[in-house]
Amino acid sequence: MPRYKTTEEVLRLANNRDQIRNMGIIAHVDHGKTTLSDSLLTASGLLSPTVAGEALALDYLKIEQERQFTYKAANISLYYEKKENNTEFLVNLIDTPGHIDFTGFVTRSLRAIDGAVVVVDAVEEVMVQTETVTRQALEQMVRPVLFINKVDRLIKELRLTPQKIEQKILRIIRDFNRLIDTYGPEEFKREWRVDPFKGSMAFGSAKDRWGVTLKIAQSEGLKFADIVSAYERNQPDELRSRFPVENAVLDMVTEHFPPPYVAQKYRVPKIWRGDLDSEVGKAMLNCDPSGPVVMCASHMRVDPQAGVVATGRLFSGTVYSGQEVYLINSRARGRAQQVGIYMGPHREVVGKLPAGNIPALLGLEGARAGETITTVPDIMPFESIRYVSEPVMTIAVEPKHPKDLPQLLDTMKRLSIEDPNLRVTINEQTGEYLLSGMGQLHLEVALTFIKEAGLEVVTAQPVVIYRESIKGASQPITVRSPNGHNRVAVMVEPLEEGVIRLIMDGKISEFMDNRERAKLLRDAGWSADEARNLWNISDGFNVFVDATKGVQRLEAVAGSMRIGFTEAMSEGVLAREPVRGIKVKLLDALVHEDPAHHGPGQIIPAIKRGIYAAMMLAGTVLLEPILRIDVRVPPDLVGVVTRVISSKRGKVTNIESKEHLVYIVGELPAAETFDLSEVLRSATGGRAFWDTSFLKFEAVPTSIVSDVIKEIRKRKGLPPEPPKLEEFLD
Ligand code: GDP
Repeated sequence: MPRYKTTEEVLRLANNRDQIRNMGIIAHVDHGKTTLSDSLLTASGLLSPTVAGEALALDYLKIEQERQFTYKAANISLYYEKKENNTEFLVNLIDTPGHIDFTGFVTRSLRAIDGAVVVVDAVEEVMVQTETVTRQALEQMVRPVLFINKVDRLIKELRLTPQKIEQKILRIIRDFNRLIDTYGPEEFKREWRVDPFKGSMAFGSAKDRWGVTLKIAQSEGLKFADIVSAYERNQPDELRSRFPVENAVLDMVTEHFPPPYVAQKYRVPKIWRGDLDSEVGKAMLNCDPSGPVVMCASHMRVDPQAGVVATGRLFSGTVYSGQEVYLINSRARGRAQQVGIYMGPHREVVGKLPAGNIPALLGLEGARAGETITTVPDIMPFESIRYVSEPVMTIAVEPKHPKDLPQLLDTMKRLSIEDPNLRVTINEQTGEYLLSGMGQLHLEVALTFIKEAGLEVVTAQPVVIYRESIKGASQPITVRSPNGHNRVAVMVEPLEEGVIRLIMDGKISEFMDNRERAKLLRDAGWSADEARNLWNISDGFNVFVDATKGVQRLEAVAGSMRIGFTEAMSEGVLAREPVRGIKVKLLDALVHEDPAHHGPGQIIPAIKRGIYAAMMLAGTVLLEPILRIDVRVPPDLVGVVTRVISSKRGKVTNIESKEHLVYIVGELPAAETFDLSEVLRSATGGRAFWDTSFLKFEAVPTSIVSDVIKEIRKRKGLPPEPPKLEEFLD
C-alpha cells in the first residue's frame, strides 16, 4: 500500500543522506520492467498528501487507475521500511527507457542513478538488450543487481522440476556475471558480481507479485519444491502474501546500492569532465548540500497545467523555490519557480531539496533534456552542447480525424521539447507534418507516444534524410537580382572537418562572443579576416562568411542575405535535401541605392541563386546516413549474417568471438535497413540479435546516385531531373 507521509516527513528522509537510494530498472523489452515497477509503486509508493485522503477513501482504486500515467513520470519516490532494523529509506525510482535508442536518453537517465535492477525473463534468459543496457549502466559506474522474473513460466509453461529450475537460475546468474566481468569497472568488478549468498540477486514473478532473495528464502525455509507446489495447487497468492516482491527487490536495492554521497565519489569523475579540484568539483564529489547547485536534468516533461518540468539529479548544493540558476547548455538564465518531488504520479511542492535527491523544477522554460542547471555561471556541462542533432529519418504524420490536428501539433511540439533529437517540421510544398529523428526505432517510439496521447494518426513509410554537399571549392560567381539592379559575387568551399567538429561540440556557435569565436577559427586555420566576419552558422554545419571589402549599403541587405543563405542550406539544389558542411563566402556585392530596389524580394533570390550556381560549379554530392550495426550470433551463422550485410550495400568491419558467440560489427546505409528485421530474422531463424545506430554520412555510390535523386524528387513532387547550371546563370 502506498504510504502517506507529510511533506515534512519526506523532507526529513530527503535530508538523511544515508537513507537515500537512486535507482532504475532496466531490461530487455518484455522481460517485465513495467510490471515490476507497478508492483513496487502499489506496494511502496509515497502518497502525495494532496491526494492521500481521497485515495484512501477510494481504497487505492484511483492510484491503480493512475498507474498508466505513472510510468511516464520521470521519477517515483518510494518509501521502504526495512524489516531487519526498522530503517526507513527514500528510494527514487527514476525512469530509464526500456528500449535501446541512440538519442542520449539512456545515458541521461543512467547518469541520475547509482544502481540498476536488471530484470531478466527466466525463460528467455540474458538477451541482447540485457547485455546492451547492462553494459551502458556499467560504463556509467551504475551498479547492477539481478531480478530473475517470470519464474511462474518455468513451472506452468516449461513444467521444469525444482532441480531444473535451480540449474536455469544458476545459468542466468553465470551469464549475467560474465557481463559484469566483461564490462564492469576494474576496481568494482569483483564486488559487483551478483551472488545469491550475498543477496544481490532475487527471483520471482512480478506478475504474481512475489519474489525472494536466497536470504529471505533460507530464513523462511522456502524451497523450490514449495514454489512449484503453490503453482500446482493454483495458489500463487500464498507466495505473494508471504514473499512480497517489493521486499526482495528493495532489500537488494537498499543493501547493495550506495547512498548518493558514496556513489558520487567514484561516479562524478566518470560522468563529468570538469576540474575535480575546483570548488564545484569537490562539492560534487562530496554531494555537499552547502556547495554550489549543480543539477543534471535527465527528463524534461511538459505538464499541461504547470508548464515545463525539469527533473534530474542534484549532485551538489540545495535547490529552493525562487532560486536563480544558469542553464549552461541553453546559455540562458532562469528561475526555479517551484521545487517539487514526485510522490507517486503527483508532483508535490517541497520548497527545497538537498544534494543527492531528484528534484522536479518548475519554471525553467528554456531548459532542454540533458541541461546542466547550476548557480555557477561557467561550469563544464554534463554533456557536450550539441549545436544541432542530425536527424537521419523522417516520417509524415497526419491525424486520422482532421479535428485532432491542433492536438497532434501540440503533442508533437511537446515531444520535441522532451526529446531534443526529435524535430517537427511542416513541408511547405505538401503541407505534411514531418517528424524527424535518429532512426526508425526512434520514430516508432515517438509514434507510440502520440498514440498513447489518444490520437489516431495515419503515417507514411519513413524515409531517409540525405544531405547535399560539394566536392571542392568553386570559382567565384556573380549573379544579378531578379530586377537586374543588384549583383552578388559568391564562392563555396567544403567546410574543414575541424570546424564542423567545433560546431558539433558546441564550442563554436552563432551567438557566442565574436572575438572568442574568431580566435578558435584562426586556430583552426582560418585567415584573421574571415574568422572575424562569420555571419551565420546554419543547421547541418554550414557557415556564411562576409569576405567583402568596402561594399556600400551592405548593412541594408545583410539581413536578407542571411535569410537567403539559411534557405539555401535547408534545401540543396540536387533534391532539396539539407546541405551539409559547406562554407559560403560573400565576395562582393553591388546594392542599388534606392531601398525600393534592394528589398528582400530581390536580395534573397539573388543570394540563393548565387549559392546554388557556386555549388554546381564546385560539383555536388549526395550524402547518405550510414548506420553502425552490431550483431551477435552463434558461430555457424556468421557467413549468413555477413552475406545479408553485403547484400545491403554494407560491409563488415570487425568479427570477434567471445565465449560461445560471435560479435559482428558492420556498416550499412540507412536506406537499406527498412526491412532489415525481416531479412535477418528469416536468414538466421531468429537466432541473431542486433542493434543499429547512426555512424556517419557518406557519398551515395555513383552507380545509383541519379536514381536516388530521381526518387527523392518524385516523392517531393519535383521534376525528375535536377536543374542545370545554366538556369542559375545570368
Ligand atoms: P517490459 O517491456 O519489460 O516493461 O515488460 P512488461 O512489464 O510490459 O511485461 C511484458 C509482458 O510480460 C506482459 O504481458 C506482462 O504481463 C508479462 N509479465 C511480466 N511479468 C511476468 C511474470 O512474472 N510472469 C509472467 N508469466 N508474465 C509476466
